[in-house]
Amino acid sequence: MNTYLNTLNGKAVGSDKTFESINPATGESIGRVPISSQQQVKDAIAAARAAQPAWAARPDAERKALMMKVAEVINKNSAYLAEWVTREQGKPLGGVGPDQVPGARFEVWGCEVWTQVPASLDLPVELAFEDDTRRDEVHRKPYGVVAAVAPWNWPLLIAIWQIIPSIRAGNTVVIKPSEYTSIGTLELVRLINEVLPAGVVNTVSGPGEVGAWLTSDPGIDKVMFTGSGPTGKKIAEAAAKNLVPATLELGGNDAAIMLPDADPKAMAMGLFWGAFINMGQTCACAKRLYVPESLFEPTVQALKELAEMMPMGDGLQEGMVMGPIQNKMQYDKVVNLVESAKQQGGTIVCGGAPKGGPGYFYPLTLVTGLKDGARLVDEEQFGPVLPIIKYRDIDEAIASANRLDVGLGASVWSTDVEKAKQVASRIQAGTVWINQHGMIHPMVPFGGVKGSGYGVEFGLDGLKAVTQPQVISIKK
Ligand code: NAD
Repeated sequence: MNTYLNTLNGKAVGSDKTFESINPATGESIGRVPISSQQQVKDAIAAARAAQPAWAARPDAERKALMMKVAEVINKNSAYLAEWVTREQGKPLGGVGPDQVPGARFEVWGCEVWTQVPASLDLPVELAFEDDTRRDEVHRKPYGVVAAVAPWNWPLLIAIWQIIPSIRAGNTVVIKPSEYTSIGTLELVRLINEVLPAGVVNTVSGPGEVGAWLTSDPGIDKVMFTGSGPTGKKIAEAAAKNLVPATLELGGNDAAIMLPDADPKAMAMGLFWGAFINMGQTCACAKRLYVPESLFEPTVQALKELAEMMPMGDGLQEGMVMGPIQNKMQYDKVVNLVESAKQQGGTIVCGGAPKGGPGYFYPLTLVTGLKDGARLVDEEQFGPVLPIIKYRDIDEAIASANRLDVGLGASVWSTDVEKAKQVASRIQAGTVWINQHGMIHPMVPFGGVKGSGYGVEFGLDGLKAVTQPQVISIKK
């Protein structure tokens, strides 16, 4: 079985210790991954440190051109990378482009787009103040070395979100992928190193401990983390000790609220994908749906029809729409939350019991009859299960949306956009979508409030977040 290697200063590097990566659709081992030592983490940071001044000093146009070459490399290797995403993460291959089933090919296509867009953005000098006596300009400087730690749900796309703006702004990067989905990311970084100077993007790999060594090392200047709230808090503490800033994209428990004038039939497909993209294993999935009594039955019915028609299986087979849950820990969590929902008065509309092995397959599941306070409503399920909750008046639904200590996304569904906007403005979330959910875009800032973290990614704000301002103040 192949052992996949880290990239350190442009060179392939293994470790004495390795672990197996598992295909969640079959339970089979698909390759071995190095467990980086603390010295290797330090070496990777040193390589990034050494490469950074020359990288930052390159003319902007050159850095942009190299990044466009990175996008070409991703494009050229898209079939190979998509296969790794499916084999390792589980999402089916699916189609390419925004209108297709959002599977592994969509993820790799997203990597290309989220490389091209930051490559084409500029951070011009801003004039803060000018009069007869002085001129004050704000310049944007890279931090230096960025430590990035990624989760397992969109392994390549989230790695790209962390790497690309960082290097566009003149930083260099050391990234640690999730131990559940390392190979695709190690291969992605190996491939883009074909066109980038050595040391600009480096990898380390292994369990959380390796991430802790990386994010707490005094040699780093900025942390980018996407993952769970509890890990986010540990990383925030580690960053605080070194006084370095962090961007924390943490979990959510997004509420979707249908207003009484919504059209369940017309909106069902948008709601469905908002909740079940990537088997619900997406930070900004709709994780609880609030529906007025008058629309309850038709909404449940429309979603049930969609849930029951989606083919689920090994995503390497063409035509699959849903794959397995990515790992045993998450699978057990989903099983446990559905069992607790049954005990807390929930009615299973469809799904509701494991499909049986091999692989971590769990059917798309809709649950009604629960109230706020039930575990399936209050805890982030991060899986293919959606509680649908009845509400009487809109104030009650807004209070429900806001009562938890997370605020990543939310959505409001209505045929009256103005009315929906009024509701949206009362919801505590980093993004409130109207008549869509989770529809991120490379030009639009994305981030959470409350327990969902701080800082934003994407667009100009995302690029600014990997730079620090320097004021040049000139006496006239
Ligand atoms: P996780 O926090 O368990 O792991 C994420 C990464 O952190 C892994 O690479 C892991 O090895 C590493 N890690 C673990 N302990 C660490 C430590 N002490 N120091 C440094 N690194 C450490 O999260 P996960 O289970 O991989 O991902 C699922 C969670 O991520 C969900 O809660 C989901 O909502 C969230 N998520 C958020 C976003 C977002 O943009 N807001 C996107 C995707 C996923």
